[in-house]
Amino acid sequence: MSDQSPTPAPRLVLATHNKGKLRELRELLRGQVPGLDVDTQVVDASAVGGPDVAETGVTFAENSLLKARAVAEATGLVAIADDSGLSVDVLGGAPGIFSARWAGRHGDDAANLRLLLAQLADVPDPHRGAAFVCAAALAVPSSASPDGAREVVEYGQLAGTLLREPRGEGGFGYDPVLQPLGMDRSCAELSPEEKNAISHRGQAFRALLPAIVEALAGR
Ligand code: IMP
Repeated sequence: MSDQSPTPAPRLVLATHNKGKLRELRELLRGQVPGLDVDTQVVDASAVGGPDVAETGVTFAENSLLKARAVAEATGLVAIADDSGLSVDVLGGAPGIFSARWAGRHGDDAANLRLLLAQLADVPDPHRGAAFVCAAALAVPSSASPDGAREVVEYGQLAGTLLREPRGEGGFGYDPVLQPLGMDRSCAELSPEEKNAISHRGQAFRALLPAIVEALAGR
């Protein structure tokens, strides 16, 4: 006879296929929700056949809600999603929701970074303010809520200054050029723990924590 107990059913889906984000979320939730086994019951969209959702919104909040809502309705589970990017003061908030494809090809981090630095080449230091911003959304599917579907959005921001040259090997995206306020290192020179503690994503998901706890209560 096997002494293995069955794997508990998933209770919370993160609407992404990014394993790094899933790892971060599990750490954030560990010990926070009574009875929730984060390693088996918090899963990403690919684990439950969740759809790939087009980011057709015009704000971070809209995009995070689109993703959370679509995955919640498709899976019948409570779903959360985030959308994030870099907002540069002198560019009026750009690249914003276009951060991942600023140079034309989605996810080409090196090209995005080169283009941004070229655009800001003549911008003096006092005008190089920028921030990573993140919206995190939670959606409870209509099938799981007697009052119909429920949604919540929270925000986080990591403000800093844009450097003139990339610095550091860690992180991803625009990390090598954003130096957080009050620090003398770029985000790519921080350890993952240091970055998570101050990051826009960490802040947004921590703010969402009470809504996650409430949505999972008794479920
Ligand atoms: P997404 O929300 O994961 O789709 O991220 C959108 C894009 O914003 C990424 O491809 C990066 O270019 C940028 N971005 C978002 N968060 C960060 C961060 O923490 N560091 C560096 N770049 C980021």
